[in-house]
Amino acid sequence: MIDLHSHTWFSDGLLSPHNLIQRAAGLGIKELAITDHDSVAAHRHLTEQDIPDDMRVIAGVEISTLWDNREIHIVGLFIDIENVQLSALLQRQQAKRRQRAQDIGLKLEKAGITGLESYLAELPCEAISRNHIADFLIAHGHASSKQQAFSKHLGKRGRFHSSADWCSISEAVATIKAARGIAVVAHPDRYKLNRVKLRRLLAEFNEAGGDALEVSYSNLHPDKMKNLADLCCELDMWASVGSDFHTPHTTWMDLGRVRKLPAHCETRALWLHPHWPATAS
Ligand code: AMP
Ligand code: MN
Ligand code: MN
Ligand code: MN
Repeated sequence: MIDLHSHTWFSDGLLSPHNLIQRAAGLGIKELAITDHDSVAAHRHLTEQDIPDDMRVIAGVEISTLWDNREIHIVGLFIDIENVQLSALLQRQQAKRRQRAQDIGLKLEKAGITGLESYLAELPCEAISRNHIADFLIAHGHASSKQQAFSKHLGKRGRFHSSADWCSISEAVATIKAARGIAVVAHPDRYKLNRVKLRRLLAEFNEAGGDALEVSYSNLHPDKMKNLADLCCELDMWASVGSDFHTPHTTWMDLGRVRKLPAHCETRALWLHPHWPATAS
């Protein structure tokens, strides 16, 4: 089994890299990409002892970008985590994350909600996420669920919303390419784009040198998966598969819990990409 999208506690996942890999191994996953938001710290912390003999851990990242005033996530796989251009971009993105958290913290204080800064300071993450701030709001009784924390407080129409000036899609793709990686548009149906806009986005992504589209991921309706597979064929793109695992508590988003690619795009599976490195064994 293969899972090309997952998170550790270096961004907004719950598990350490070691525990994520242990869980993946238990679920029979042989190829696991760790793709934290704007961070490759998990990969810097891994040692050979962390990785079972029959598993490959793929160096990955999920970069936040801005396109048409929306946040679009671009996954990079098989990246060189030492690449200086990549490191510089991730540093800038993390600084934007810290700035946004500070802005939100100030807005919260004005509403009488204190303690965000010290809450965040205790976390093991390198990339601060709104997901963490949602946890803080829930822990302090200001939201009853993640969904509500986003819709009431942190999302575009939320009262504590603060935006970040993420890099462009073309900059993310160029940087992934500079780091010799493969670039993938993450979870394309989560951006609330109509078909025309999605096509425009993918055309720009392809123009920038992007490779693939996530076609199968957690909780994606089979009809929607088929549409994405059709798009993949039409636009001559590769098809990726990933759970976007964050925490064992969200059981429908567990590692490897994704549908097989539809038959008509099996030949486009990303692991058949000419730049997909062969496994050692
Ligand atoms: P950020 O990258 O800091 O803007 O945070 C976005 C992260 O928050 C995503 O990667 C998800 O893990 C999580 N997230 C975003 N929207 C929601 C939502 N409506 N409900 C639950 N989690 C969400
Ligand atoms: Mn996340
Ligand atoms: Mn994402
Ligand atoms: Mn993700």
